[in-house]
Amino acid sequence: MGTVEPQIATEAQQQTDGFQLVIDALKLNELDTIYGLPGIPITDLTRRAQAAGLRVLSFRHEQNAGYAASIAGFLTQKPGICLTVSAPGFLNGLNALAHATVNCFPMILISGSSEREVVDLQQGDYEEMDQLAIAKPVAKAAFRVLHAEDIGVGIARAIRAAVSGRPGGVYLDLPAKLFAQSIDAAAGKNSLIKVVDAAPRQIPAAEAVKRAVDLLRSSKKPLIILGKGAAYAQADADIRALVEKTGIPYLSMSMAKGLLPDNHEQSASAARSYVLPEADVVMLIGARLNWLLSHGKGKTWGGKGHKDWGGQKFVQVDISPQEADSNVRIDAPVVGDIGSCVSAFLNEIKSGWAKPPVEWLNAISAKKTTNVAKMAETLAKTPSPMNFHSALNVVRDIIKANPDAMLVNEGANALDFTRSIVDMYKPRKRIDVGTWGIMGVGMGYCVAAAVVTKQQVIAIEGDSAFGFSGMEVETICRYNLPVCIVIMNNNGVYKGTDVNPTGGPDVAPTVFVKGARYDKLMEAFGGVGANATTPAELRKAMEEAVRSRKPTLINAVIDETAGTESGRITSLNPTAKKK
Ligand code: ADP
Ligand code: MG
Repeated sequence: MGTVEPQIATEAQQQTDGFQLVIDALKLNELDTIYGLPGIPITDLTRRAQAAGLRVLSFRHEQNAGYAASIAGFLTQKPGICLTVSAPGFLNGLNALAHATVNCFPMILISGSSEREVVDLQQGDYEEMDQLAIAKPVAKAAFRVLHAEDIGVGIARAIRAAVSGRPGGVYLDLPAKLFAQSIDAAAGKNSLIKVVDAAPRQIPAAEAVKRAVDLLRSSKKPLIILGKGAAYAQADADIRALVEKTGIPYLSMSMAKGLLPDNHEQSASAARSYVLPEADVVMLIGARLNWLLSHGKGKTWGGKGHKDWGGQKFVQVDISPQEADSNVRIDAPVVGDIGSCVSAFLNEIKSGWAKPPVEWLNAISAKKTTNVAKMAETLAKTPSPMNFHSALNVVRDIIKANPDAMLVNEGANALDFTRSIVDMYKPRKRIDVGTWGIMGVGMGYCVAAAVVTKQQVIAIEGDSAFGFSGMEVETICRYNLPVCIVIMNNNGVYKGTDVNPTGGPDVAPTVFVKGARYDKLMEAFGGVGANATTPAELRKAMEEAVRSRKPTLINAVIDETAGTESGRITSLNPTAKKK
């Protein structure tokens, strides 16, 4: 970090102001990157932050800046900072703030706002809005700073709220007048807080650990499920040791893929639909029993009806004491940070541990062999035009050859197929739609992933999903980031074959312009565009992108009949529910 001193007029040599204190407080806490979009009243904040040595990345829409900040938080365990203008800019950033909170990613949305006096009397200010009140329901915490001498406290509180306990999104409201307030420089400096131990370790209770280990010992068919909380915790070596020492088969949730390599012999991913209903004790590590795990009941888990429980017992390792019993009974909750919990487990099993019965392991391995062979057969086909499988077979090879690359993934079919086909080999390399299963995270994630990790980024995007953040290809070109975007172009949402039943001039609501050339968008800003109609063309273009590290967009032409409605979550469609 540079050491640029505050640039303040001579007459105010001993003075500092709100702008400077915000910048100094961020720097003091090693928050060195801002994802945002300049405008009133924060334009000068972006300029002065850059002058002070912070990295200030400007986006074309606040939502994308927000998603970038949220995923930077996930990757670094430090709050990602998003900076927006008031009212409309703030509202654009709010989607990402909610996303951060729901996904347990630490993020701080800092937004300029109008003056309190005018807002509270509703006198009609430029971009007037009671932003604090609006942010509260979607934030883990929300604060407003009215006086320059409180900036240090405001930022310290925001940092602690974002990263301690279960991480989340925090809103920090900074009214325009605050930035220009000037105070004595020494008093200002003294008011800043360098946060000590922002995310204190939370040690699990010994009896909780013992209860959990005893339950696991009693199991004939144990299973571990690793979630993105486990990936976030950065306790990679201990988690791997726990899985390997216990010999328990495991499943990885989407963003936990690669925490242990997907080709690990204990991975049960290729036998998921076998192990979930069969397991007798399931240990959840940083994974919630939400819709992504069918709420721990129903047919997926061996229950007969929708609400029926399959009979499993659960251990749940989570930092949030309120998470247990949210969907089904948790027999052994272990509350603490995952690093501390996992090392406590390792300690507890030191005294002796018997690996799971071979019948269980053999049954899983037999299922895996069958399913892997089936998948290999599908992947080996080369239909023309390409389908998701033949295109993703290429992506699978490219990731295998470049295991350090970051994989960004969104869409419906583009998401589901990539998740199951493309293996990951290292922790925190796969970042995707997360807990809500939303579209729109793509290009924001690409920017943050490239900036934070400096690694090659590969984005596998549905053509519909890409549309939500597509304009950020300009941002990617502007900062010359090593991002290779592959658009799975099947001419529409889910697929491109719907027809308007009235015969009228409008195409069906799910259909886009046929044969669109998304690659031209990238060329417009000086990046590399490529059109791929065969796996060979796709492979060549991806290899070149990885070699050159140039911003690249590949339009992968996919059969427009490929893809299913809503991907794998067809059951959530109201019409499907009615049936
Ligand atoms: P997935 O979608 O991968 O299943 P979830 O987002 O549902 O993952 O679950 C993540 C869980 O991890 C949350 O319940 C959260 O409280 C927990 N968590 C996040 N960070 C930590 C941590 N450092 N230690 C313990 N638990 C954590
Ligand atoms: Mg599509």
